[in-house]
Amino acid sequence: MSKLPILSQRHIDPRSYPPGVAYMDGQYLPMQEAKLSVLDYGFLHSDATYDVVHVWKGAFFRLDDHLNRFFRGIEELHMSIPYDQAQVAEILHNCVALSELRNAYVEFICTRGTSPTFSRDPRDAENRFIAFAIPFGSVANKEQMEHGLHLAVTDVLRIPPSSVDPTIKNYHWLDMVKGLYAAYDQGADTAVLVDGNGNVSEGPGFNVFAIRDGVVSTPDTSVLLGITRQTIFDICAGLGIQCRTQDVSVTALKAADEVFVTSTAGGVMPVTKVDGQPVGSGVLGTLSKTILAKYWEMHDDDTLRDVVPYPEAAE
Ligand code: PLP
Repeated sequence: MSKLPILSQRHIDPRSYPPGVAYMDGQYLPMQEAKLSVLDYGFLHSDATYDVVHVWKGAFFRLDDHLNRFFRGIEELHMSIPYDQAQVAEILHNCVALSELRNAYVEFICTRGTSPTFSRDPRDAENRFIAFAIPFGSVANKEQMEHGLHLAVTDVLRIPPSSVDPTIKNYHWLDMVKGLYAAYDQGADTAVLVDGNGNVSEGPGFNVFAIRDGVVSTPDTSVLLGITRQTIFDICAGLGIQCRTQDVSVTALKAADEVFVTSTAGGVMPVTKVDGQPVGSGVLGTLSKTILAKYWEMHDDDTLRDVVPYPEAAE
C-alpha cells in the first residue's frame, strides 16, 4: 500500500478510551471520536452483524476467513455496504497501520443504520459500516491462561438458532450476560450456555472443546462457527488427533480429561475447573498445551498472514 489516509481529529474528548483508530462515515478517527447516532438500529435493536480478527506481531491472522464470514452475514441479513472484500481489507489495514498497534483486536461492523423518517421498516434504513483497531484483548487474563479458567455451566439457554442464526455473528448477548452473572454468583470466571436439548453450546465470545481419551469434541449446533474453532480442526488434522463436531452433553463436559475454549480474543484458553470441580487432574492438560502452542506457531505461516503496512517511522 502506498500512502496512509489522513487521521481526522474532530474534537478532544476528555473521557478515556483504549488507544486505537476507527473508520466510520468515510473517515479515520481516533477511537474516542468514533460515535454513533442513538437512532441507529444497530444500537436500538441489536440489528447488526460484525466480525473480529486479530493482528499478531504486525500481521492479520486468517483475515480472508473473517471477511467471508462477515460478508455472508451481511447478505443473510439483507444488508449492504458500499465496499467489497478487498476494500474492507484495505480499511482494516489502514486502521491498524494508523494505530501503529503490533497486536490488535480489529472489529468490523455493519449496522442496520438509520432511516431518515425513523420508519420501522428495516428496508428503509441506510446500513452503516464501522471498523476499529484497539489493543489485542483476551477472554482470559494472564493468570487464567497460566492456571486455567473456571467455567460455570449455567442453565441459561443460548438464543435458539430458529430465532437468531448463531452462525451470523451478532450482538444478541443478553443470554450471555445473564450467564456471566450466574457464573460470577458461583465464583466462576465465565459461563457456558446450553442449547434447546440441554447440551453445551457456547459462551460469551468463545467456542467450547472437551477432550476425552485423546478425542477432541465440540458442539456442532447452536454455535458460531468460530475461525479459531476451524484452526483447531486444522491443528488436529495436522497432528493426527481425532476431532469431532457433535453434541457435547453437560455430563460429558464434566467428565472430560481436558477442556479448553477458543476465541479470536485470546486463542486457545485452558479450563481447569467446571462448576467448582477440577477438570481431569485440575492442571493444564497435555493435549491442550500442544494445541495451544501449535495455534500460536501457525501465526508464522505466511499463507495465513496479511502483513500490515505500518508507517515507516513506526517500523
Ligand atoms: N462464539 C461466540 C458467541 C463468539 O462471539 C465468538 C467470538 O467472538 C466465538 C464463538 C469464537 O469465534 P472466533 O474463533 O471466530 O473468534
